[in-house]
Amino acid sequence: PALVDEYRAARSRSARIFARACRSMPGGETRAVTHYPPFPTVMERGTGAELMDVDGNHYLDVVNNYTALVHGNAQPEASAAIEAILRDGTVFPAPHRSQIALAEEIAERVPAVERLRFTNSGSEASALALRIARRATGRRELTLADGGYHGAIAPFTSGEPDVVRTPYNDRLALEATITERTAAVFIEPFLGAGGVIPAEPSYLHAVQDRAREVGAVFVFDEVQSLRNAPQGTAHALGLTPDLVTLAKIIGGGMPIGAVGGRADLLELTSPLVSGRLDHAGTFNGNPVASVAGLAALRRLDVTAIARLNGSAAKLADEIAAAGAAAGAPVVVTRSGSILNVHPGADAVRAPADARRAPGFRAALHLSLMLEGVYTTPRGMLNLSTALTPDQLRQVADGYTRAFERLTSQP
Ligand code: PLP
Repeated sequence: PALVDEYRAARSRSARIFARACRSMPGGETRAVTHYPPFPTVMERGTGAELMDVDGNHYLDVVNNYTALVHGNAQPEASAAIEAILRDGTVFPAPHRSQIALAEEIAERVPAVERLRFTNSGSEASALALRIARRATGRRELTLADGGYHGAIAPFTSGEPDVVRTPYNDRLALEATITERTAAVFIEPFLGAGGVIPAEPSYLHAVQDRAREVGAVFVFDEVQSLRNAPQGTAHALGLTPDLVTLAKIIGGGMPIGAVGGRADLLELTSPLVSGRLDHAGTFNGNPVASVAGLAALRRLDVTAIARLNGSAAKLADEIAAAGAAAGAPVVVTRSGSILNVHPGADAVRAPADARRAPGFRAALHLSLMLEGVYTTPRGMLNLSTALTPDQLRQVADGYTRAFERLTSQP
């Protein structure tokens, strides 16, 4: 209660704007993940790793729009590319060189990508990958990992017909959940929204092997994990997916998604093919997202990725040590530059572990906001190349003070 009072006291403008927003949008929001009680802070602007809200509070940004802003806010090269293209027009009912350049850049980086189609989000990429797999196999069923997230769209949301759930990291379950009825199996190299829980590499290989054995399309979701390895995580682990889904960082801060993969599968969508799979979208591959994405990917080279991952490993240790020192033990899970802080000392292995102690998670989130660290309610954080060593230290110090604040409350 004291935390909530302190949070409210410094956010009168946010409170007013949120109340107004509730009259035009259900719950005052238009995304699911950005809501938290008592009301979300309304943001004014972001530059690099710094955010400022409408009440003038400042934060260090370790959300980066849920891993999409790998270079932070308003990255100068991406912004300059966007400004330059605005003078020529934002979108055409025709191909544009920027779209081709981004497609080539992605195909060059990610070995599994022989051909690619753009969409406007990762969710749409998932939907397209499933349609391609169903057309190619003539089957309906979709196998997803328990706790896996590929977009909040049917049939990827829970309780849909034709969807089979398989427990993550459980090789023994694969025989029963990936079968001759399976059109596609979708897998993330770590459960992202599910709590940053990494897969055993041998598990991912077993999924691939089982999919091949039964003739199902193996779809690797690189929407979050592309930032963790120069050629993508599938390649880093020696996997050869049939399709990969991409989004977030490939748009350089603009909305985007893509499905890439085997030429014979992607060619099913070609206008040159009779009876093709119809894939359309007024803004697919638009120049604004294309130039921003190209600028972002070019900046994300081997050195940048090594630095991000190294800084993230160090920060994970510092946060765990700070929790222990304050008497609030936490487990910090990590994949590359994406982390999740989980309350408690027990190992985090299953999706349920990533939801434990919701009260502590909510309190830590508010406490960090009060310390000027902008994180997520579920405990996920991730790094951008915009964070300086000094700012990284401030983030670690923010965690130390946030833990102390929680353990010193009556
Ligand atoms: N796949 C993964 C692994 C994601 O983390 C997300 C988004 O968080 C998506 C797919 C969906 O992407 P989008 O939000 O662009 O629709």
